[in-house]
Amino acid sequence: MKLLRCPKCGGKLEAITYEDIEVDRCCQCNGIWFDSSEADNLKQLKGSENIDIGRLRDNQKEVLDTDIPCPHCHIAMVKMFDLDKHPIWYETCPQCQGIWFDAGEFKKFKDNFSRPKLLSRALNFFRLKK
Ligand SMILES: [Zn+2]
Ligand SMILES: [Zn+2]
Repeated sequence: MKLLRCPKCGGKLEAITYEDIEVDRCCQCNGIWFDSSEADNLKQLKGSENIDIGRLRDNQKEVLDTDIPCPHCHIAMVKMFDLDKHPIWYETCPQCQGIWFDAGEFKKFKDNFSRPKLLSRALNFFRLKK
């Protein structure tokens, strides 16, 4: 097995498996690497946020002017901004479509998709008010 290095801190990525989906988590900073469709598959699984054991540091600044290399392809990843309930920055590889989440970001990423429920609740609320 090829040893993957964390694109952010250089720590070792170790494979962890959740419901037959394997992802790679950094044993230093707890960032998580997802192959192309893994993040989409995982966010639909109940309890999958438990793979994200790290805490998002509040004072963490995204380094926007530094290229973060894909741990597989070693080319610069593209920064994505998810402006949702929880705004998060994450990196995605234009070649293998893998996604990198810093510790704590996958939880938020997943939580962003529970939004339709919140939205309809808000709409109902406004309807009631009228
Ligand atoms: Zn790391
Ligand atoms: Zn890649």
